[in-house]
Amino acid sequence: MPVLVMKFGGTSVATLDRIRRAAKRVGVEVAKGYDVIVIVSAMSGKTNELVGWVGETSPLYDAREYDAVVSSGENVTAGLMALTLQEMDVPARSWQGWQVPVRTTNAHSSARIEDIPPKNINTKFDEGMRVAVVAGFQGVSPEGRITTLGRGGSDTTAVAFAAAFGAERCDIYTDVDGVYTTDPRVSAKARRLDKIAFEEMLELASLGAKVLQTRSVELAMRYKVKLRVLSSFEEQSDTAGTLVCDEEEIMESNVVAGVAFSRDEAKMTLVSVADRPGIAASIFTALSDAGVNVDMIVQNIAEEGRTDMTWSCPTDQVARAQKAIEAAKADGTINYHEVIADTDVAKVSVVGIGMRSHTGVAAKMFQVLSAEGVNIKVITTSEIKISVLIDRKYMELAVQALHDAFELEKAA
Ligand code: ADP
Ligand code: ASP
Ligand code: MG
Repeated sequence: MPVLVMKFGGTSVATLDRIRRAAKRVGVEVAKGYDVIVIVSAMSGKTNELVGWVGETSPLYDAREYDAVVSSGENVTAGLMALTLQEMDVPARSWQGWQVPVRTTNAHSSARIEDIPPKNINTKFDEGMRVAVVAGFQGVSPEGRITTLGRGGSDTTAVAFAAAFGAERCDIYTDVDGVYTTDPRVSAKARRLDKIAFEEMLELASLGAKVLQTRSVELAMRYKVKLRVLSSFEEQSDTAGTLVCDEEEIMESNVVAGVAFSRDEAKMTLVSVADRPGIAASIFTALSDAGVNVDMIVQNIAEEGRTDMTWSCPTDQVARAQKAIEAAKADGTINYHEVIADTDVAKVSVVGIGMRSHTGVAAKMFQVLSAEGVNIKVITTSEIKISVLIDRKYMELAVQALHDAFELEKAA
């Protein structure tokens, strides 16, 4: 029988009543003749609570135990969803990651899925089970320990199952009815897109639009999974929501498809480092060895053989970055006057594959920010995106002004 993957996020399984409503949607697809793989998240707020408990118990926690605790929210919802379906006379059972098994790397708290052998679940489908309810976000390492896939990881579980089972479609049910031109919580003028290209979705996700985890979009693109984002609060239909697809399937699109933002950014500057070959290599090797994810980088013009080096990284990595830089100074690898960290910044980005063939997007973006009196601290560009780092207090203003200036509320 054809297989469908249906993923329900935290708000869609937040209460027993919501689980019942989600289960009814699953029942409709089963009645159409699909074998369904349901991927569930933890009830909304649960994962944050578990993460908080780990931090309170052990500030420098063992990542393997972090995963053991934090993965447990999904186990509860998987069991409750299976019970709800059974109450509706739908043959269903729950599966935790290790039972499938969802084999991952051993990078605890940010593991990658390596393999999902479909045999165990398919045997149960052959025996008459109609729904496999799988706990999202979790897997098992080569050492047999529980792993998690990074925050928002249930999206990735869903797409990986769709690829492994050759599913007809992977439907991501969430609290918005699709992918919008920007986060509808920040701009009331945000417009829902019927379709969005994989490349654009990948950029939006990696630049902060949390509607899909970045890795899930990468996998969907690589394995050609038909990926749809839709609301679990609206009427069920086969065409609702946003389809994430190849750009060839989209007839008309705006030059800029969307605006993304990330509050979780910090800017760090090394003041007065020697301007000599190898200096960038020394700084960024020290940061990379310490596991700091550097995003934007700027090097100032040198004066009298000294220069400043600035980079951005996630706010929660500032302490680690500082430690790594100080250690490199202590062992003589680098020499600088001062290290400054600014944690009151945000990144705002415009994304669109139309930028490949249109000029002037950067100029317009900078004019709009200048008209609003927003100072740009760092700029980076790629073929299909332009990102700026600005003071966090201007983030909403910048997103709304850019959304207006690029007329994103209007379809192409
Ligand atoms: P779930 O718990 O279902 O996984 P998430 O909270 O992870 O849901 O993702 C959905 C949220 O993503 C929305 O409520 C919305 O605020 C946010 N979001 C950010 N950018 C966008 C966008 N461009 N389009 C739609 N939603 C977005
Ligand atoms: N529950 C996990 C989280 O909150 C995974 C997910 O919801 O996708 O990050
Ligand atoms: Mg999510």
